[in-house]
Amino acid sequence: MQFFDSHAHYDDRRFSNEYPGGVDALLQYICTQGVTRVCNVGASLRSSMESLAMADYYDGRIGYPRFCASVGLHPCDALEVPEMMTADVLDEIRSLAGHAKAVAIGEIGLDYHWDEEHHDRQKAMFDMQLSLAEEVKKPVIIHDRDAHGDTFDILAAHPNVTGILHSYSGSPEMARQLADKGWYISFSGPVTYKNAAKVKDACAIVPEDLLLLETDAPYLPPVPHRGKLNHSGYLVHTAAVMAEIRGTTPEAIAETTYRNACRIFGLPSLSQ
Ligand SMILES: [Zn+2]
Repeated sequence: MQFFDSHAHYDDRRFSNEYPGGVDALLQYICTQGVTRVCNVGASLRSSMESLAMADYYDGRIGYPRFCASVGLHPCDALEVPEMMTADVLDEIRSLAGHAKAVAIGEIGLDYHWDEEHHDRQKAMFDMQLSLAEEVKKPVIIHDRDAHGDTFDILAAHPNVTGILHSYSGSPEMARQLADKGWYISFSGPVTYKNAAKVKDACAIVPEDLLLLETDAPYLPPVPHRGKLNHSGYLVHTAAVMAEIRGTTPEAIAETTYRNACRIFGLPSLSQ
């Protein structure tokens, strides 16, 4: 089985601090577990630059997964950008998006779970980054936490932009409407959680050619690894539960989601 982890944050300091041997040893390990491609997702200007640096360093290196990266401002990180700096920071993101290993703009979106006060600012930053994605002709990676209605409305206002709803947590109905518009829907550890009936229902109805698999590592570890640092070696558990939900095999989930990730990121569909 070969896996494409379409959403991970290996630049996160916890990997270098807490994993024995650091991130380098971990990436070698996940490669032995069949994880042959990773998209390292930016969340701030710093992590976008680090994601590209990792892709430059690891992509094509023997014994490691192939690496690509995305660049963008996560809604919580976007709030840290002073208003007067907004244009400059977005210019930086635009120039990073021109890097050869940059395959998407993200993660961008709305997070009403962590921030209840600055919804207008979040929406403005989201809207500007969607316009940027349209301008540079890249897909987007969307973070939507407890903000399904506004996320849907803002995406609808950008009909020329497409991409991925990452770590999907909305309703099956919204998943169907997004899929009808060609959006990819990505599932992570929470689909394995007992109380995640809604996520499981959504996973059941996503069309095969729009389904994606991810970790969001180091966050959201699947059962039976909850409470640990998540990594792509655990994708096998998420794939097994998705297979059960969809009445297919983990191998088929791995293969389908691999092919789909290559398509949305514009990568050739080969392995090493
Ligand atoms: Zn993420």
